[in-house]
Amino acid sequence: MSRIISIGIVGYGNLGRGVEAAIRQNSDLRLEAIFTRRNPGSIESGTPMVSISDIEQYKGKIDVMILCGGSAKDLPEQGPSLAKHFHTVDSFDTHALIPEYYDKVNDAAVSNGNVSVISTGWDPGLFSLNRLLAEAVLPDGKEYTFWGKGVSQGHSDAIRRVEGVSNGIQYTIPREEAVERVRSGSNPVLTTREKHLRECFVVLKDGANPEAVANEIKSMPNYFADYETVVHFVAEATLQAEHAKMPHGGNVIRSGQTGQGNGNTQLIEFGLKLDSNPEFTASVLVAYARAAYRMAQAGQTGAKTVFDVPYGLLSPKSPEQLRKELL
Ligand code: NAP
Repeated sequence: MSRIISIGIVGYGNLGRGVEAAIRQNSDLRLEAIFTRRNPGSIESGTPMVSISDIEQYKGKIDVMILCGGSAKDLPEQGPSLAKHFHTVDSFDTHALIPEYYDKVNDAAVSNGNVSVISTGWDPGLFSLNRLLAEAVLPDGKEYTFWGKGVSQGHSDAIRRVEGVSNGIQYTIPREEAVERVRSGSNPVLTTREKHLRECFVVLKDGANPEAVANEIKSMPNYFADYETVVHFVAEATLQAEHAKMPHGGNVIRSGQTGQGNGNTQLIEFGLKLDSNPEFTASVLVAYARAAYRMAQAGQTGAKTVFDVPYGLLSPKSPEQLRKELL
């Protein structure tokens, strides 16, 4: 049995709390400390809380830092700067900026002999792996990703910025008829509106006009205008009681043809149904922390994505055990 891998968490939000819980389910990992930009004394946790300004004192004491900051503002700065000092794992999810982020983290990690697994989680992450697998196996085919039913943080934030809204949440919902057309293997061409619909639960401020609020939400460019959007008005108590969880999930589906024109259609589907998006994402990050440690032990350096990490390294089991039990 190899030694226990010591882990640090950087950033204590939804994802950070999820990582704290996920480490308890993995006996080969031990959580040493949580690093935060806030006053550590002001945050409740059963784990030692440390100011991020003291993080370099933990060099040599922590094997892998799991970065749980937000993709918009925190990771672009924290990812490259912490890759200079530690092996890291993060869930940077701004898809369009991943190549640029990769380069910055890679430079920092290579120059300092560290391994940094970037952009893992479920999308990017497990969904990306399944897109790659399906495309490699079925080159003559078409890929579809459906998201939901789940809460979109970005769309929920957009609702809350509308004049007259005091609170709100948005669910992205895949259209069942579109999913079934894809599963039939007919490779349909689907518009944005045909693939997903958006359902909003909105709490109004006193005196706000519901019709004006609904219209402003439904016509919001980039967020809602290209979709069928349903708006429900609810009381704050209902929002708290019925919409406080963070479910998500979705499906990556590819159908393709094999053989020589004999009409054989093959379908590959990978699906997730998550009660808690951050807890699941955290569980993925923790498995990749184990892999990052092992890659570093094997002498590797630099930024890695899920495409660069062999599956076997994610498991606490030995290669012999995996061949016997799972192959
Ligand atoms: P979050 O709760 O907003 O936390 C982000 C950071 O904000 C924390 O690290 C924390 O840093 C700070 N923070 C948290 N609560 C705070 C509070 N009450 N007051 C002040 N600051 C607070 O975000 P999250 O839900 O954990 O998500 C983090 C990122 O995960 C998202 O941006 C997203 O990019 C990514 N994600 C990826 C996937 C995927 O599949 N790849 C899936 C889900 C999420 P400090 O402790 O330093 O203050």
